[in-house]
Amino acid sequence: MEDLIKRAADLLERSRKVVAFTGAGVSTESGIPDFRSPGGIWEKYEPVYYQDFLDDEEARRRYWLRSRATYPVLRDAIPNPTHLALVELEKMGKLDCIITQNIDRLHHKAGSLPEKIIEIHGNSAFAVCLGCRRNYPREEIQNLLEENDGIAVPHCPECKGFLKDATISFGQSMPEEETKEAMLRAQECDLMFTLGSSLVVYPAAYLPRYAHQAGAKLIIINMTATPLDHLADVVIHGKTGEVLRRIVNEIRMKL
Ligand code: NAD
Repeated sequence: MEDLIKRAADLLERSRKVVAFTGAGVSTESGIPDFRSPGGIWEKYEPVYYQDFLDDEEARRRYWLRSRATYPVLRDAIPNPTHLALVELEKMGKLDCIITQNIDRLHHKAGSLPEKIIEIHGNSAFAVCLGCRRNYPREEIQNLLEENDGIAVPHCPECKGFLKDATISFGQSMPEEETKEAMLRAQECDLMFTLGSSLVVYPAAYLPRYAHQAGAKLIIINMTATPLDHLADVVIHGKTGEVLRRIVNEIRMKL
């Protein structure tokens, strides 16, 4: 492990445009379960596909039941050593941007510069009307869901359209601007390191592939093996918090 940490630190130090690509695994240490580990979100709630949300009142009811239960976990979570180490890398001038699949806003809460965070799966701080595209603070919707044992499916107060979390569901298109920006950054970086992602969720998992194809080095840090491990220059199987802290310490010693 020591040798891998040194190699990763060395690559980071020598690179000029570094992109961090984060997944649900960076937030498990903040108490937010990931999707695929035992005890993860999928074991408790089946995902609601976007088309079903649009077509079926029962699917919308299940969607909001799950959202009502999971939102407080996301809202109350606090950043962990991984998020803080990324802030430190940014302050060292070592980070071009963070592309995150996460919806939990923990990179923002940790203090990463908002303009350096690209959220490709949206975020849980807002709900959006699928009719008129108005945004509402998600906290307001939570109050509606909870007060007097609340409503089951919220609608837009303005146009009565369906409200949905400002996150991307299975089968829903990725946000256009963020996706474009993420692809550009992936193709322009000279090092991408992926943190806490199974790298099986597409199209997001194309990003490290694009980076690699464009000639960037790849570091993969994840607890378990990923399908892209064979493309990486360094693969470290471990907890992102501990691994990243050791890499940052290594770089700090050389500065
Ligand atoms: P994933 O659940 O598919 O994979 C997470 C990976 O992280 C797993 O391979 C697991 O072994 C690893 N892992 C868990 N804890 C770890 C730790 N402490 N250190 C290192 N590795 C760890 O997650 P994904 O690849 O991000 O894709 C799932 C989708 O789910 C994403 O689109 C994301 O938007 C969404 N999601 C987000 C959150 C969140 O915002 N925190 C939580 C669950 C799911």
